[in-house]
Order: sequence, then structure tokens, then C-alpha cells
Amino acid sequence: MTDTNKKVFTCIVCPRGCEVTANLDKEGNILSIEGNSCPRGETYVKNELLNPMRQLTSTVIIEGGIYDRLPVILSDVIPKGKMMDVMEALNGVKVKAPVKRGDVIVKNICGLNVDVVASRSM
Ligand code: SF4
Repeated sequence: MTDTNKKVFTCIVCPRGCEVTANLDKEGNILSIEGNSCPRGETYVKNELLNPMRQLTSTVIIEGGIYDRLPVILSDVIPKGKMMDVMEALNGVKVKAPVKRGDVIVKNICGLNVDVVASRSM
């Protein structure tokens, strides 16, 4: 048995896609990071380990549009652990056409300082 642990990530910050390895102690503390070709890869892996963030796209109900659902996207990434909260909050959202691409559908969803915006006009 070893006191260290390795976690391997593919950096998605740029198309090069470096394979970056984080060496962790048994408590999960970062000992070293290797394989990244630039500092952004180290930042990416630290964020993935400590506070992973994700973009979310979904749909909400729209009345009077050419479809029943309006595609929406967040104005910024959110913590991965909050994805389900946002999805649940979007379940109850209903808007009326017309809506323009970029219109704010829900301001500051779940208190995350991120808005839900329309990703198309309808
Ligand atoms: S480590 Fe740097 S060069 Fe490699 S994929 Fe990430 S951003 Fe691109």
C-alpha cells in the first residue's frame, strides 16, 4: 500500500489536451502536478480537484412559441455540486413568447450570481 495517490486529467483549456497528473497524499492534498505544458493546466487541475465548475444547458417551458420548450444556458459556469439544484429550479420556469436570444429568463438562479439566459429567439 502507498501513501500517495495519482489522479489523471485531460486538460480541456485548449485543444492540445495535455494529460495532467496530480499526485495526492492520502488525505487528498496536492503534492505535485505534472504533465501540463503551461500554467493554465495546473490551474485547471487544481480547480477540478478543489472546486469543479460546469456550464449547464437546459430548456424551459415557453407559451406561444413555435416549440413547447425554449433552450437556455447559464451566463457563467457554476459549481458542479449545484447542477441538480439549478435543474430543479428550472423545472418550474415558464415564459411567454416572444423571447430574444440573450434575454435573462431567471436572474441570479439559486443565489449563484449567475443568470439563466435564452440561447435562441422564439
Ligand atoms: S496544459 Fe496548457 S497547453 Fe496543455 S491543454 Fe492545458 S492549457 Fe493547453
